[in-house]
Amino acid sequence: MQHTANGNSQIPLLDLHAQYDSIREEIRAALDEVLKTQHFILGPNVVSLEKEIADYCGRRFAVGVASGTDALTLSLCAAGIRPGDEVLVPAFSFIATADSISSLGATPVFVDIQPETFCIDPEKLRAKVGPRTRAIVPVHLYGQSADVDAIVAFAQAHGLKVIEDNAQAIGATYHGKRTGGLGDFGCLSFFPSKNLGGYGDGGMILTDSEEAADRLRALRSHGSVKKYVSREQGWNSRLDELQAAILRVKLRHLDRWCVARRNNATRYDSRLAKVSGVVRPTVAGWGEHVFHQYTIRLERRDAVQEFLANEGIASAVYYPVPLHLQPIYLHLAYRPGDLPECERAASEVLSLPIYPELTDAQIERIADSIARALR
Ligand SMILES: *Cc1c(COP(=O)(O)O)cnc(C)c1O
Repeated sequence: MQHTANGNSQIPLLDLHAQYDSIREEIRAALDEVLKTQHFILGPNVVSLEKEIADYCGRRFAVGVASGTDALTLSLCAAGIRPGDEVLVPAFSFIATADSISSLGATPVFVDIQPETFCIDPEKLRAKVGPRTRAIVPVHLYGQSADVDAIVAFAQAHGLKVIEDNAQAIGATYHGKRTGGLGDFGCLSFFPSKNLGGYGDGGMILTDSEEAADRLRALRSHGSVKKYVSREQGWNSRLDELQAAILRVKLRHLDRWCVARRNNATRYDSRLAKVSGVVRPTVAGWGEHVFHQYTIRLERRDAVQEFLANEGIASAVYYPVPLHLQPIYLHLAYRPGDLPECERAASEVLSLPIYPELTDAQIERIADSIARALR
């Protein structure tokens, strides 16, 4: 373990070593099994994982793909998004939420967020919908569901599809139902740092429509419905068998990890309650937060982050540049001030370590360092 100049150990943002130590034997056995079969693409582990995740999220069908970004792109395609269409998205998210839309020749239309939940503000949809709008992509940011009922009601009134970006929130609930099981499509990412992360890239799409699931299975394999017969433009985007075997092991531990993350959030809450100048995360009344991130707001965010770094404590800014002000979308001609809550969040947020193996003593040290930074 690495130490700072004053002898304190470093606290990383995420410690995947600690997680691997606790599941090493199970993972190795699962990998050995795949290596024995030498079946690497669309094998039995992918089929089983699809079934297990569909069940976990309360959906009829699941289709494994190569990444969370591809899950979004293929879902948008299956939802009928074509060049020239518009899709409503929050401007406070990872770039993949929007570039999956623009990669299809469609236009992301950026919507402001609710300051308390950091998720798309349903009240702001009306002003952004137009004759070319076809879909809404709500993001369950940091592990908490967006206000889906209001979004779905709006979508139904305007004939729009709802594609959930559930990359950060597997296991979260909304009025008793799991996220990813709420819209027309639910998209998951298995990027290693996600709450259910593989040892490489991976993703999955959830849906209740058999027709959509069939189309997605074709889209992930060059648009072929039959081997070597392609019906439409597709992709080579599969979840591979080794990742699926790893993810099946990790899925068995996911609920336990979600509980540990929530407990860590409670510990932070009680320690940070006494620190003035810190705005703690809000848990909306509609469901369970799985704390992919524990994200606070601070006015002097950059100075606090630097102070923590000097104390050996890692933290991160997700995300420093809102999507409407990204260089890739310069041609869409948004200006600073257009989406004030997204811009304020980008300048105030700081995500602290929250991984399941984090100890109470580490949380105490982090909270204490924040208090000293603000003094
Ligand atoms: C991680 C993430 C994605 C993309 O997932 P990849 O697997 O990295 O392609 C999309 N949206 C959000 C909100 C994410 O956090």
